[in-house]
Amino acid sequence: MKIALQGLFPEELQALCQAAGQPAFRGKQLWQWLQIQGATDWAQMGNLPRALKEKLAETHTPAPAKILKESGEPGGTRKWLVGLADGESVETVLIPARERNTVCVSTQVGCKMGCAFCASAKCGFARGLSAGEIVAQVQLVAVALGKRPDNVVYMGMGEPFDNYDETLRSVRILNHPDGLNIGARRITLSTSGVVPGIRRLAGEGLQVELSVSLHAPNPDLRRKLMPIENKYPMDELLRECADYTAKTKRHVTFEYTLVKGVNDSLRDAEELAGRLRRFPCRVNLIPLSPVDEFAGEAPPRPVLEAFLRALETRGVEGTLRESKGKGVDAACGQLRRRAQSGALPQKEDRPD
Ligand code: SAH
Repeated sequence: MKIALQGLFPEELQALCQAAGQPAFRGKQLWQWLQIQGATDWAQMGNLPRALKEKLAETHTPAPAKILKESGEPGGTRKWLVGLADGESVETVLIPARERNTVCVSTQVGCKMGCAFCASAKCGFARGLSAGEIVAQVQLVAVALGKRPDNVVYMGMGEPFDNYDETLRSVRILNHPDGLNIGARRITLSTSGVVPGIRRLAGEGLQVELSVSLHAPNPDLRRKLMPIENKYPMDELLRECADYTAKTKRHVTFEYTLVKGVNDSLRDAEELAGRLRRFPCRVNLIPLSPVDEFAGEAPPRPVLEAFLRALETRGVEGTLRESKGKGVDAACGQLRRRAQSGALPQKEDRPD
C-alpha cells in the first residue's frame, strides 16, 4: 500500500520533495494542502507541479477520506463510514457538545480485543491504520464542520496501543503547531488496558489524556467482559496506571460501561472504589449502548446515579456520560457491522 501523506511531518514532506528534485518549499505547500485545507486528492493541489505529483504518487498518496455512509444530523452527533484505499472501512464520529466539537477516531479496521459488548470486535480484525489514515479522519470532520474540531478522542474502532507507533505519530501531527494544532490536553487516548502501551506513553512527554477501559470491579468479572484480562490482569494494570500518574502527574480516567445486572450493583461500586482509592484518578460511567450481538441493557437512571454516588462517597471522583449517539449507531463498530451484514442501504460514494 502507498504511504498516506497525512501521516508525514513537514520536514519529511520537504525531504520527499527534495528527493524528487524539487525545492523544499514544495513540501510546505503539500503540508498546507493536507493539514490546513484537508485535501484528499492530488487534483485539489493546484499550485504543485504535475511532475512532482506524478513522481510522489508512485509511492505516496493522500489518504482518501471517502465517505461511504453518513448518518446523524447537522448540529447533532454525526457518524461517517469512511472508505480506505484498500477497500476497508472504519467509523468516525463527531460529537458536538457545549460549543465544543469532539471527533472520535478509529485506529484499526476491526479489533482483536473481543470485549463482550463491543461491536468492533464482532466483525474481525483486518489491519491497523496508518497515521495518515487516522489524521485524515479528523481532517474529514474539519472539512464537514468548516472549522477545526476542538477535541479528539481515540475511542472509535480498534485498540490504539495495539497500533502504538502509528497512533502516536498521528497524535503528534494533530498536535503540530503548523497543522490542526489540537492541544495535547484535548486529545484522549483510550486503551482496553495494554500495559506496555501505558508504560511507553508515560515516557513520551506528551500532555495527552489517558483513558483506561476497566468495566469491572474485580478480575473475575472483568475476564468475562474483556478477554485482555487474561493477558494483562487488573492488578498489574492498576499498578501501571498508578506508576503512570506518579511519573506524568496526570490522572487516568477509567471507563466503566454499566450493564444492568452485570456490573451495576452497589457492591460493585464499593469494590471498585476500594481498588481505585489508592491513587488519584477518575471514573467515567457509560450506560451500555445497545448492540445487536450482546444481550445486555443499560441500567435505569436511578441505578446509574446510585452507582456514581457510591463511588463519590468513597472518595472516588466520577462522571456519568450521557449516551449521545443512540440515533447514529454510535457504539463502536456498529455502523460498519450493519454495513457488513447488509442492514444498511447500498454503499454510496458521494459525487464530490
Ligand atoms: N479499544 C479502546 C478504545 C475504543 S472503545 C478501549 O477499549 O478503550 C471506547 C470505549 O467505548 C471503551 O471504553 C469501550 O469499552 C466502550 N464501549 C464499547 N462498546 C460499548 C457499548 N456497546 N456501550 C458502551 N460502551 C461501549
